[in-house]
Amino acid sequence: GSKSTKFTPLVLPPRVTNEEFSSFIQKIINLVGNENVEVITSRDQIDDGSYMDPTLTHDPHHVMEQDYFLASATVAPRDVSDVQVIVQLANKLSFPLWPISIGRNSGYGGAAPRVSGSIVLNMGKHLNKILEVNVEGAYCLVEPGVTFQDMHDYLVKNNLRDKLWLDVPDLGGGSIIGNTTERGVGYTPYGDHWMMHSGMEVVLPNGELLRTGMGALPDPKRPETMGLKPEDQPWNKSAHLFPYGFGPYVDGLFSQSNLGIVTKMGMWLMPNPGGYQSYLITLPREDDLKRAVDVIRPLRLGMALQNVPTIRHILLDAAVMGSKKHYSSKSDPLSDEDLDAIAKKLNLGRWNFYGALYGPKPIRDVLLKTITEAFSVIPGAKIYLPEDTPQDSVLRIRDKTMQGIPTYDELKWIDWLPNGAHLFFSPIAKVAGEDAMAQYAVTKRRCHEVGLDFLGTFIVGMRELHHIVCIVFNKKDPEQKKKAHWLIKTLIDDCAANGWGEYRTHLAVMDQIMGTYNWNNGALLKFNEIVKNAVDPNGIIAPGKSGVWPKQYSKVTHKL
Ligand code: ADP
Repeated sequence: GSKSTKFTPLVLPPRVTNEEFSSFIQKIINLVGNENVEVITSRDQIDDGSYMDPTLTHDPHHVMEQDYFLASATVAPRDVSDVQVIVQLANKLSFPLWPISIGRNSGYGGAAPRVSGSIVLNMGKHLNKILEVNVEGAYCLVEPGVTFQDMHDYLVKNNLRDKLWLDVPDLGGGSIIGNTTERGVGYTPYGDHWMMHSGMEVVLPNGELLRTGMGALPDPKRPETMGLKPEDQPWNKSAHLFPYGFGPYVDGLFSQSNLGIVTKMGMWLMPNPGGYQSYLITLPREDDLKRAVDVIRPLRLGMALQNVPTIRHILLDAAVMGSKKHYSSKSDPLSDEDLDAIAKKLNLGRWNFYGALYGPKPIRDVLLKTITEAFSVIPGAKIYLPEDTPQDSVLRIRDKTMQGIPTYDELKWIDWLPNGAHLFFSPIAKVAGEDAMAQYAVTKRRCHEVGLDFLGTFIVGMRELHHIVCIVFNKKDPEQKKKAHWLIKTLIDDCAANGWGEYRTHLAVMDQIMGTYNWNNGALLKFNEIVKNAVDPNGIIAPGKSGVWPKQYSKVTHKL
């Protein structure tokens, strides 16, 4: 091409010409260097990669066409000031930027942007420092590229694990900032990540730098810090101890949103409880779910259940230990008899409850007695400790997860089917047996309707269940992809009709889900749009994220 179209990406964002793109990307290259920019000009660059080697160009778990959500380029800023300059350049063109930290975001869209042609801002490549681990205050301050694994390794390397634990999600490779801003969860007593963050630093769409909570109160000036740029200045001493500060609490505006680019965040670490014991309670029958959830509610509310436990469906556990082929030659959904046989073979229940006890032995003993007694109303319920189970048991994996040690074993259930990819469908429910059973019945029936097995888990929050349905599909089977996509769309409507909404979702169904949160003529979305257009008048940050579109995008053409 001519000089003015030196860079021709496979896809341009709406209303941006190739000439404009080319000169924009040239300016970014001049800023951050060639090595930090990749323009996606050829299909050879679109490779699904793997969990350990994630792609940043598109969603490796594509339920639509592989390149449906595609970046025009990926750019890795070297520091906060690069981010500010890029934002200022993007404003001139209304150019969409899609910030990510690590870009795994598995089952929810990976690193892919909602609007194809966006630049994926790889925040984690250079901004990857653990800035502080404060033992006395039990918190850390991190940049976007710090993964759960990185923080755990740091604690181990510095002999700090006898003082502090970190809460981790099912897989250790995600970023603390990405997972927390998405309101992801883990399984220790600190499992609600959003609840545990304190103090954020954010580049706003106009390039200004904001610190939230107590971070907005300057640390007293000292000679050695006087000349520092805002991003390098020490934080207020309470910023990572008290999350709220003064005035409207704005942190929420930077979670699951498109109002800023997070550059630092404080996160609480859990003091080592001085003792730990994980356990499994197997529940033999499918409808034991109902009674188990009713047993769990008072225990969890009263904190006899100290952590975020899970009630896992037999097939999720089975899938961690082997693919469907390993258990059956059927391609249809497995029957009740098949599931009973698998449960028997694995010495598991149709549902399996994974929990843990924290604290010195006398405390653990009392809690364990309370919990076992409560579950004893369920005939056939049995309790196991890790050493009672085989070497490859899920309990041995959860034993690590529930004490904040990252693992990767849960990746295996994605291979339930050949060329396995997955989508998460994640509705919220009351911690009530009837609700859990009803939600399970609706989701299972629809899974079977499209010929897929039900794989799922109920994650027990303080007062609600995050029900996670793991929709596993063969990504090389276009028919099955269509069915998986139909399944999630149908489930969203089924659930909304029952008053159930999702806590988080994949790019492909963000609009639909925001559409279900429509109480009083969609007051929530209207408010979000007002905020979006005021804070980001040129619509440059993650347009369409969570179904919130800036005014530049006609909803009719962009909504899915
Ligand atoms: P993971 O940590 O699992 O790899 P990502 O880095 O992909 O997750 O982040 C998940 C989502 O969180 C992104 O798609 C984006 O919407 C949001 N996000 C991640 N990092 C940032 C950030 N630094 N600033 C703003 N939003 C972010």
